[in-house]
Amino acid sequence: MIAENVQNIRQRIVAACRRAGRSHEDVRLIAVTKTFRTAVIKEAVRAGVSDFGENYVQELCRKHDELGDADIRWHFIGHLQSNKLRYIAGWIHLIHSVDSVKLGRQISAWGERSGTPMEVLVEVNTSGETTKFGVPPASAPALVKDLLALPFVKVTGFMTIGPMLPDPEQSRPAFRILRELQSGLRQEGIMLPRLSMGMTGDFEVAIEEGATMVRIGTGIFGKREKRIDHRQESA
Ligand SMILES: *Cc1c(COP(=O)(O)O)cnc(C)c1O
Repeated sequence: MIAENVQNIRQRIVAACRRAGRSHEDVRLIAVTKTFRTAVIKEAVRAGVSDFGENYVQELCRKHDELGDADIRWHFIGHLQSNKLRYIAGWIHLIHSVDSVKLGRQISAWGERSGTPMEVLVEVNTSGETTKFGVPPASAPALVKDLLALPFVKVTGFMTIGPMLPDPEQSRPAFRILRELQSGLRQEGIMLPRLSMGMTGDFEVAIEEGATMVRIGTGIFGKREKRIDHRQESA
């Protein structure tokens, strides 16, 4: 079941890349496993998936404890509180959700401790919805430049969450904003190769607009039945 879904998503990624005149090797599939058990993650690993995204530090750490990071690159895609950084700093592959220089400074401090820069993306709020995290598009270039000044942070791109409306075409303007931010900075000589955008409902449009990482949950694992109560997440 999961293997079939992975294959289906991969085929759709390839088709979207072909339409956009891109190589499918330039788009990485990140399986989003929030609320799903580790058995499910193992099944996806067997189906050839190597990148997994989680939104909550405690849940991520529990799964990392069990599965390690030999076969898995772990991505943090949720809102990150700086006091939780310590739990993931040694092994997290990529933090998609940096939205302040304050958080960036703390990430740099943890990077320094482990002796390697930590790779991050700047999360952009492309919908203007106040319930969403991320910086407004107009503030994103300045944040990138602030992060570039930090010695143990390596900023390599942008992340956004589309508006999640019924028609995927409605996400296109949001994804285009990221592409325009990327090309604007390129003109200043700042290369940011990664664009993390597109979920189950809109990843093909995201690929057409230049996504290099798509974050797919439902399309691989099915509906998330129950919400984990994260108010208990204190540490
Ligand atoms: C849950 C989540 C996803 C995956 O969403 P699906 O619609 O299930 O594919 C992607 N990105 C983020 C930030 C998420 O929280």
